[in-house]
Amino acid sequence: MSIKLLRQAFNGRQALTPMWQHHALKDRYEVVIIGGGVHGLACAYYLAKNHGINDVAVLEKRYIGSGGSGRNTTIIRSNYLTPEGVLFYDESVKLYEDLSEELDFNVMFSQRGHLTLAHTDASLRTMRWRAEVNQLQGVNSSVIYPDEIKKLAPYMDVSDRPRYPVMGALYHPPGGIVRHDAVVWGYARGADRRGVHLHQETEVTGIEVEKNRVTAVQTSRGRIKTGTVLNATAGWCSLIAGMVGLKLPVETRPLQACVTEPLKPFLDTVVVSGTLHFYLSQSDRGELVMGASVDPFTSYSQDSTLSFVEGLAGHVLELFPSLAQVRLLRQWAGLCDMTPDYSPIMGFTPVTGFLVDVGWGTYGFKAGPVSGKRMAELIATQHTPDLIAPFSYDRFLAGRLVGEKGAASVGH
Ligand SMILES: Cc1cc2nc3c(=O)[nH]c(=O)nc-3n(C[C@H](O)[C@H](O)[C@H](O)COP(=O)(O)OP(=O)(O)OC[C@H]3O[C@@H](n4cnc5c(N)ncnc54)[C@H](O)[C@@H]3O)c2cc1C
Repeated sequence: MSIKLLRQAFNGRQALTPMWQHHALKDRYEVVIIGGGVHGLACAYYLAKNHGINDVAVLEKRYIGSGGSGRNTTIIRSNYLTPEGVLFYDESVKLYEDLSEELDFNVMFSQRGHLTLAHTDASLRTMRWRAEVNQLQGVNSSVIYPDEIKKLAPYMDVSDRPRYPVMGALYHPPGGIVRHDAVVWGYARGADRRGVHLHQETEVTGIEVEKNRVTAVQTSRGRIKTGTVLNATAGWCSLIAGMVGLKLPVETRPLQACVTEPLKPFLDTVVVSGTLHFYLSQSDRGELVMGASVDPFTSYSQDSTLSFVEGLAGHVLELFPSLAQVRLLRQWAGLCDMTPDYSPIMGFTPVTGFLVDVGWGTYGFKAGPVSGKRMAELIATQHTPDLIAPFSYDRFLAGRLVGEKGAASVGH
């Protein structure tokens, strides 16, 4: 392996094998997936691998992973609140556990444990509730108290000095972080190798519908005839749905994050505080990856702001005062497609052939594998798998919302 790498270094870029191929746009595909993020790519991969359907195009207006899939803070967990949510995300954690082997690509999944801190009686009560629901579904999750928290995060101040002292935490050992780019690239390569066409810099500009049935997609590179379109565009999903006249109960909001200079490893778990509105983890390179809640307005802007880092830093320093001299390396933002019940919208819609895998808000990266697998099953069988049935579009018409208060670890 090392000789191959050396040879590649000296031979220049020519020697590198591309991860996926460039194809001419065909004028017809059996399935068109809009969005080259983890959801669209995973669906394409499982369609080809599990169902032998590879006449599939993934259309991406920029480059693979340029949306939320390349901008997230990579937290994976299944300690949700609703039984529907816990079962669903638990299947994703299990798929993540085997993903490096599945894709033959190291996705660096590090199950280092996840702490959701409680600073009030009310949040401690919710943590106990979540622990009960988790345990009933067989998910490893329990409430622990400051002395145990101190052992897991020795540099965190669990005394009664902070403005909101830590009273307890929901501890979820299988939770952790992953290398997000590797997941996206692994699925893209896997789909490409099975015959799927990945088209970057191909923007969908319109969708043709005849007698309430999808017939074609218009793109910046030409028209494609198809009977099946999957909208996997997260922050842009309402714009795509609007092309078939469908209104989604989704608001797009920016979510910001930032990363510090690398530090000697000192934090082995993911730490989240809903009350202080921040979370952080230490990457394998030693950087602290930090985030907070969505911006308090709807927007398609991916700009980042000084007020975000000022607020975040103040809150982080409440619990980690020793980080006061640490410098920020960079900050960024992505778009989040928020639903009223903090659960996704998956499956069929009133427009025949127009499917959705959207509503991923601030929490959709962890769901990439299970959504891809189950949406592929839905497309192949034309039946909604039980696991994703609670997240159907028509729940908003029938008033069957899945109030997922455990969706974002920080406040919504
Ligand atoms: C800062 C931040 C931190 C986050 N942290 C976490 C976390 O720790 N854990 C977690 O689980 N989730 C997290 N998320 C949420 C997660 O990133 C998203 O829910 C997830 O990546 C959505 O994936 P996707 O494949 O559905 O969409 P995306 O990755 O956003 O892909 C959609 C793609 O559609 C493309 N597109 C849009 N319009 C068109 C068009 N007209 N034609 C063609 N292509 C189009 C876009 O260019 C984009 O690449 C975070 C998000 C952000 C922004």
